[in-house]
Formats: sequence, C-alpha cells, structure tokens
Amino acid sequence: MVEGSSSIPNDLNAFWMPFTANRQFKKNPRMFVGAKDMHYTTSDGRQVLDGTAGLWCVNAGHCRPLITEAIAKQAGELDYAPAFQMGHPKVFELANRLVDLAPEGLDHVMFTNSGSESVETALKVALAYQKAIGQGSRTRLIGRERGYHGVNFGGISVGGIVANRKMFGTLLTGVDHMPHTHNLAKNAFSRGEPQHGVELADELERIVTLHDASTIAAVIVEPVAGSTGVLIPPPGYLKRLREICDKHGILLIFDEVITGFGRLGTPFGADYFGVTPDIMITAKGLTNGVIPMGAVFTSGKIHDAFMSGPEHLIEFFHGYTYSGNPIAAAAGLATLETYKEEGLLTRGAEMGRYWEDALHSLKGTRHVIDVRNIGLVGAIELEPIAGAPTKRAFAAFVKAYEMGVLIRTTGDIIALSPPLIVEKEHIDTIVETLADILKSLE
Ligand code: PMP
Repeated sequence: MVEGSSSIPNDLNAFWMPFTANRQFKKNPRMFVGAKDMHYTTSDGRQVLDGTAGLWCVNAGHCRPLITEAIAKQAGELDYAPAFQMGHPKVFELANRLVDLAPEGLDHVMFTNSGSESVETALKVALAYQKAIGQGSRTRLIGRERGYHGVNFGGISVGGIVANRKMFGTLLTGVDHMPHTHNLAKNAFSRGEPQHGVELADELERIVTLHDASTIAAVIVEPVAGSTGVLIPPPGYLKRLREICDKHGILLIFDEVITGFGRLGTPFGADYFGVTPDIMITAKGLTNGVIPMGAVFTSGKIHDAFMSGPEHLIEFFHGYTYSGNPIAAAAGLATLETYKEEGLLTRGAEMGRYWEDALHSLKGTRHVIDVRNIGLVGAIELEPIAGAPTKRAFAAFVKAYEMGVLIRTTGDIIALSPPLIVEKEHIDTIVETLADILKSLE
C-alpha cells in the first residue's frame, strides 16, 4: 500500500513495470497525471520539464491539438479495419506522405506497432529478400556491441546490450557484432561527430572475410546509438559501412527509431549522414509517441523482388492485427502535419548550437567525464561509483524529477532528448538543474 495523493492507486503490486526497479519504484512512486507541450504534471501537482520527449518519442511536445483531435475524430469514424486483405484510405495516405519524406530510394512502407516489431519486420524482410533473389545461403546477421534494437528475439540477438540478452538463453544463431565506436580516451567532449574511430567500420570487412559474404544477409546499426548513451559515429563511418555492404551484396539496415523524425535536425539520420540504407526502421516520433506505431521503409529493389509471382498469392507472410490501424494512421498523418507546419524536422539544426554550448558548459562539473551532442540529443557521462555502477546517475535522475526536470539514465550516462519545440529557456533550466544536482551529488 502506498500512502499519499489520492490520484495514486492504493495497490501498485499487480502491474509488473517494464525496465523498472519495481520494488524500489513502488516504495516511492513517480507518477504523471497530465502533460502539455514541454511539461508533465505529477500526481502531487508539480510541473516537470520533459527533457527526454517521453522515451525519445514526443517530438512535437505533449497533447498537441491537431494530433489529439485527429485521433478522436478517427475513433468515431472508423475505429478498426482488418489489416489483411482490406484497406482504408488513411494508411495509404500516410505511406505516401512517409515515402515523400524519406531519403530518395526508400519507396515502400510496412506498418508495425513499435520499434521492436519494426526491427523484427526488417530482419525478416532482409532474410526473405535474399532468398527471393536466389541468395538463400545468406542467413547471417551482423549488429554491433551496445546496439539497441528493441526487446524481441531478433532484436536482442543483433543487439549488443549484455543485460538484455543474458537472461534468455540461446538467441538467434549466426549473428556477429561489430565494435561500437564510443571511445572516451580519444573522443571525450566531442561536439557533434567525434574525430576518431572511422577505421572501426573495417571490422565489418573482417567479419565478412571470416564467414564469406555469401553467408551474410544484412548489417543493422543505429546511425546514432541512443539507448546505450548517445554514441555518435565519426565522419565517414556509416559511408564506409555502406561501401562494404554494397561490395558484398549485403543489405544495410538503419534502425532510426530514435534518429527518425527530426532528432538530429534532419528528417532522418540517413539525411544527416548522407547515407541511404536499404531498409529503414522507425517508430516513436512517427505518431509523436501518442499511439503505438512503427514503419519499416524498404527500397524499390527489395519490394519488387516479391512482386513477380501469381497476382492472387500473398507476397510476404508477415503482418500484425494492428498494422496500419486507422487511429494510428490518423495520428501519424496529424503528427507529420504538425512537424511540417512548425518546421520541427529541421528545428534541431537551428537549436543545435545553443543546445551544444549549453550541454558543454557542464564540462568541468563534478563527476562529469564526457559530454556529447548531435542535433537535439545529448549525453553527460558520469564517473561511476566504484562497485556501484548506475547508482550515481540514477540518484541524479530521482533528484532531477524532484526538482522538476525529467532526464533519462542508462548506466552512468544521462541522456537528454527534449521535444523539438524546446526553447532556450528550457535548455537553460535543464542544464542549470543538472549542474546543481551534480555539484551536490556524492
Ligand atoms: N530500436 C531503437 C534504436 C530504439 O531506440 C528502440 C526503443 N528505444 C527500439 C528499437 C524499440 O522500440 P520499442 O520500445 O517501441 O519496441
């Protein structure tokens, strides 16, 4: 039983919360009961500045009327339509809008309900494509250490987060991991792309040589690894991966669940880095995080490889009950409209310099061993307490919540990704609050 505000339920035991220290949380719960634009309202009536766009998803800010009204309208008009062998106009409209926005060559879209489902879909498309073009021996997948690709079995197999893998026994076989590019010794306090580490892309060539290209289907990377602490690649790294993939007939998959929809100051990470993948995974910002939805973009070449059989047959055996759900599609359309009206997909480029300077003002603050940033995302890495990893950053998270700022921590790294409507004064509040906390933290 938890005492306190009447808006907190008396019994918190039944809900087994995801990625949460449940026992600790339930002793001292943190609850949001409302949100508007840049702020949450807590159950005890306080305003908390959203420094993380929820979970990197509420890119247009909270409870935006265009989006909430589109959802309400759609729910009253057509609440659900079967996703298979039936259509409804909005899902086609959304697909058209998305391919118009996507990098040139990504001409088709499949819909899912989350980033994790988008990852599984992308991996299956890659494997099935290789088979469809007579390259069925290409079954191996290559991810990266510290890569995060959601929590389903394919995603944790190609992902490189030890804690997310080790509870679950044998994962997908035939998976290799390239090294990540994070290098504190050489790249600490980089602004934007760090200088060192482009040669790490050649690890891909080494893995290809080891197994032979004829066994490898696809490489999957996040253009900027988000969940493991904002790991930014050096210039040329992603281009080099692209070249190696092209040379060997390997598909390149970008997981843009975080970098998609304006986070880097460009519509997609592919635009920022000038590298177009064969398959692009998105979710989160697609619907401003309001309704679960993901989208997997594929090249025309991939799509067309499935279109040559008899017309009455299903081309690809995959899909979800809620793929392209009408309410999600309406939310997606209204979200894209909001981004367009307010220029949010490039706002990160305008605000990026202020963001960068503000974050880097924390250099020299107690416990801070690195600050890094790109677009409207950033990270502050703290010196871990010996023998108690994650404890210091988590203490900062709790303190920040108490002081009215929502931050996110991963290990001993504080990750920041405010809604793209953020103003300078919000950035100042986030950074000043963190500076105060870090000075007083043990
Ligand atoms: N891929 C990446 C790069 C992500 O950052 C995330 C979520 N943080 C996912 C996949 C999984 O998305 P979801 O939680 O919607 O399943």
